[in-house]
Amino acid sequence: MEICREEKKMSRKAASCYCPKLETVSWRDCSGEKVVTTEKLTAQDLLKSKETEFAVADVTITYAEGDRIRRCRNCKTAFDERFSIPRVWWTTLAKRSNGYFGYQDILDSDGTRTGAISWVRFMVKRVSKVLDDHGVDEIKYHWVKLNAVTRWHASNNRTNIILFDHPHFALLNRDSILRDINPRELGDPFWVYPSMVEEIAQLHDVTIWETRNLLRDFELRRAFYRFNYKYLHEIPRHMTHVNEMVYVTESILTSIQKHHNHFLATDKAVDAPPRMFFLNIQSRLDSLHNMVTNLRHRAESNNARIQNEMALTYNDAARIDSSAMRAISLIGLLFLPAAFVAAIFSTSFFNFDAPTGIWKLSSHFWMYWAVAVPLTVVTVVSWFFGPVIMDKVMPQWRRWVE
Ligand SMILES: [Zn+2]
Repeated sequence: MEICREEKKMSRKAASCYCPKLETVSWRDCSGEKVVTTEKLTAQDLLKSKETEFAVADVTITYAEGDRIRRCRNCKTAFDERFSIPRVWWTTLAKRSNGYFGYQDILDSDGTRTGAISWVRFMVKRVSKVLDDHGVDEIKYHWVKLNAVTRWHASNNRTNIILFDHPHFALLNRDSILRDINPRELGDPFWVYPSMVEEIAQLHDVTIWETRNLLRDFELRRAFYRFNYKYLHEIPRHMTHVNEMVYVTESILTSIQKHHNHFLATDKAVDAPPRMFFLNIQSRLDSLHNMVTNLRHRAESNNARIQNEMALTYNDAARIDSSAMRAISLIGLLFLPAAFVAAIFSTSFFNFDAPTGIWKLSSHFWMYWAVAVPLTVVTVVSWFFGPVIMDKVMPQWRRWVE
């Protein structure tokens, strides 16, 4: 017995680690009064069933660094136990993903839903124009991520939320979620998503306007940027990522709505009045979906504008090149007839005697035409049919000349 106690003690000791404490905000409805508490807890503290506000609150929001938790086996085990995080979430696939949404019911041995877990990842690319060390325009960018896991308990409608990684955006989301808590909606595990998606949609709006401003600046200063092809190519490069992320958000939102419908269709505990609150959540998600779709249309429109701008820039450059070539051709045209005549008269077929002023043409002048005309014909025919003949005789010739 004593040995077992000792082993338990050692096991508890082994489960602790030196990772920094996690900031956890807990929200509780105490007879109509909303109580918000902030605690600093270790991952092991999250497993306690009392002593902490985290253990008894209706809603808890914990901020954690995903990579640190991944690296620490003890923290990872505690998180798995407390939040039932799915195995795929820890994989490199999820870590490198450009976005996802997952949902899973927690079932008892009879197949009755006792809770639910959902996990989501959104990404947004922020861009801005700056001057580099040489005073030349360049585009700076950074990624903003929202990585969240939600664990909901059906028996007491408690929700545990973990926000990972991007600290500023995670705090912004935490404040939005706390602001939007409606005690009547806590029986629906999806109550947290309208707030999150709203923040992400607002960020997409900002970043789409950022790319639009880059584009507008280029359009207004077209002459200044005319031959700065490197900068011109940077704009669509970032715009492609911005657009991709709006598409991904829209796809995630579709998935959230689909799973929410599944929840509404299968939740037997839902009676008439709360069901209307839960349907309101679906309405808010529908409305946000519509806004994200329209943001995507704007992003596509920006993309069409930059393609148009690139086509115009290259056509303009080609036109300027073509004007220079035309000027050179005109000069050649002016001198060519005179040069041709001078070349013929300087041949030995013509003989000019300076002292007497007598000018004679050789009777063999026909030889000039006899050589020049066939040679011209051979040259023109070769120019027309030479590549076709070479393709048949020696197909690899183009590799040497192109
Ligand atoms: Zn740890």
